[in-house]
Amino acid sequence: MPVARPDDLPAGRDALMPPDAVIAIDGPAGSGKSTTARALAERFGLLYIDTGAMYRALTHAACGARVDPGDEAALAALLAGADLELRPGRGEVTVLWNGRDVSQAIRTPEIDAAVSAVSAHAAVRRDMVRRQQAFGRRGGVVMEGRDIGSVVFPLATAKIFLQASLEARVERRLRQFRLRGRELARQDVARDLAARDRLDSEREASPLLVSPDALVVDSSALTLEQQNAACARAALVNPALDRELDTDLAPALRELPAHYRLAYAVFGALARFYGLRQVGNEGRALPRGVVVACNHISLWDPPLMGSTLHRHPVRTLAKEELFRPAWPLGTFFRWLDTIPIRRRGYDRAAFAEAAAALQAGQNLLIFPEGTRRAIGTPGPVKNGLGILIQATRAPMLPVFIRGSYGRRPGGSALSPLEVCYGPVIRWHALDRLLDDLDPKTVSRRIAQTCEAAWCELQERSYARHPRTAFEQEQGGRQQVRFAARHQRLFGRREPDAGA
Ligand code: C5P
Repeated sequence: MPVARPDDLPAGRDALMPPDAVIAIDGPAGSGKSTTARALAERFGLLYIDTGAMYRALTHAACGARVDPGDEAALAALLAGADLELRPGRGEVTVLWNGRDVSQAIRTPEIDAAVSAVSAHAAVRRDMVRRQQAFGRRGGVVMEGRDIGSVVFPLATAKIFLQASLEARVERRLRQFRLRGRELARQDVARDLAARDRLDSEREASPLLVSPDALVVDSSALTLEQQNAACARAALVNPALDRELDTDLAPALRELPAHYRLAYAVFGALARFYGLRQVGNEGRALPRGVVVACNHISLWDPPLMGSTLHRHPVRTLAKEELFRPAWPLGTFFRWLDTIPIRRRGYDRAAFAEAAAALQAGQNLLIFPEGTRRAIGTPGPVKNGLGILIQATRAPMLPVFIRGSYGRRPGGSALSPLEVCYGPVIRWHALDRLLDDLDPKTVSRRIAQTCEAAWCELQERSYARHPRTAFEQEQGGRQQVRFAARHQRLFGRREPDAGA
């Protein structure tokens, strides 16, 4: 049975949750994230990490040291020198700041009032995100906060956006404090929550937002048990869909047209010659009608990336200059059903053909930066990806290629050649976003999702093989050169990031 919504899941599917899963739960203050995150951690045998407690611990330390919540440099220095530890246990997590237990002290209305200002600083967030990633990179965690799905773990197994009306959240906060023996005025709590919502959503550095691939759960009218059950079902949607991916290569390979076999044989030989290593998706599972979104650093990317897809006919979008009639490669591209695209402006015909291919269940490989970019800094992604996804709802497979620039035979020390696969990303929140936002803003969110996925895949690759001196030098030089080329090609200084 195809799983389209959390309610389609039959009961008893908990076993589908991989032991190294990362469940990201984001949402506004008081939406019930902590309670549910703890319940999911227990249910699926994962570790619970409360990132709000980390920002609270810094705020508490800043108050003690009389550091102004607006002083970014002083806060960053305070954090850099601190040992911040989260110790999961039964019930609440123990928070240790330089070895001192601050678990209770960080949950007061005074900290509530100051924490959003402290957490708005980019330098603070960079350090916190690094610590959170270190807690969770090996997987097996439920992490809750504001930017977990969008920034900390863009490749999370499940992203849940838990929301509730302001009235419901005020009621819960009042009850929480009452249990701890403190009676607060309703209007003060409402004012504080509304102010925090505003600060958390409007800040420049990783604001609270709904990722297009998040499953949104509104808990306003739910009991705690219903909320936990709804989130557990939501968390299982992607694992259930992944289970349905067809990994039986043999039938697909048998049906592969001869000319594709020939092309894949050539690409495969090239990949072996250059010592390519594929990381992730070794089973070569692809859903039907998926957009494979790969970063672009070299003219070798299409055949090298293509060598890892050797299963289905995969259509590609390629710049129209490659189809010049006199050029033998043009015939080759046409032969592989490549779709020519004009890179300046919006090529309606090319997008219509690509969308029709996806809707017919074909897979499409695209390089959504629109041109080659400097190594080491993938993105920005152009609006075309979002337009295509809004038109087709096609899932996306983010793939990051490293080391295709400056290759030497057999692999080289200049940079390792890797094609790194992310998980299939499905756009659960797309309709909901399109209700509230204009299509261009939604396209930018889709683009950000792709960029964040590449950055995470790059970080994981660097963790396996640190960035080489060649990559560092080339990356810096290319940034200048490629920015100039971008201007020449598209008549703008940079792609319309943030538009
Ligand atoms: O979740 P909690 O209410 O404990 O979070 C406290 C504050 O920490 C939030 O209002 C927000 O300003 C900040 N925070 C954040 N990013 C996170 C988690 C919390 O900015 N990932």
